[in-house]
Amino acid sequence: MQLVGYESSPDAALLVADEGTVTRVALDPGTDLDYALGERHCAGVIQNGQHDTCSNTGAPWCQVHTDHWHEGLIEEREDEHVVYLAAFAPATFKVGITRTWRLDTRLREQGADCGAHIFTVPDGQVAREVESDVGSDIGERVRVATKIRGLHRLVDDDAWADLLDEFAVIDEFSFDYGLDLTDQPVPETLAAGTVVGVQGRVLVLEAGGTHYAVDLRSLVGYDVEPGGDEQPRQSSLGAF
Ligand SMILES: [Zn+2]
Repeated sequence: MQLVGYESSPDAALLVADEGTVTRVALDPGTDLDYALGERHCAGVIQNGQHDTCSNTGAPWCQVHTDHWHEGLIEEREDEHVVYLAAFAPATFKVGITRTWRLDTRLREQGADCGAHIFTVPDGQVAREVESDVGSDIGERVRVATKIRGLHRLVDDDAWADLLDEFAVIDEFSFDYGLDLTDQPVPETLAAGTVVGVQGRVLVLEAGGTHYAVDLRSLVGYDVEPGGDEQPRQSSLGAF
């Protein structure tokens, strides 16, 4: 049994392969996970719902299989696109592009706390030009570790408003992922505990009274055993 993929919020899930069959495990709040992590290797490839295993050591995907995972980065060139800003608490901002009809989903799958639609352009190429223009000031990437550090925080509304003042904002978004955290969860790689929620590709689990933040991508490729998770781990941030 191997963890072979994931889906980000708003419909977050882990994909678990067993003897070629792929099961989608929804990460709804309150779901109990109980997978002990074993060895990690390439997650192989899923085609027509069937999983082909791969023993190469590259993880989550080896060089042969890495192209099969697009993670929303490949955009159709011909469609109308939007250029958007995304805010991650407390005050990390980025610019991005997506097809117009995907904007709400795109912001949620990245785990943005707020978003703003700032330009509409005829195709993906123009969108990329505008993105790199705006991105030279604001940035186009936010690391998952940065997002985790702000999971329990609110967006700095003044800083966000100051940024939006520089643009003719077409539409604004704000999202609540229902995590309700008072402290920063402990970054960890585990798949055992009770699901609190998922923000983007960050899964928040509660186990033994501690909240853990798990980058779903960091789980992909692990062989797992149902039951029997006994890994020792940090129980509070104070130990770092
Ligand atoms: Zn492979």
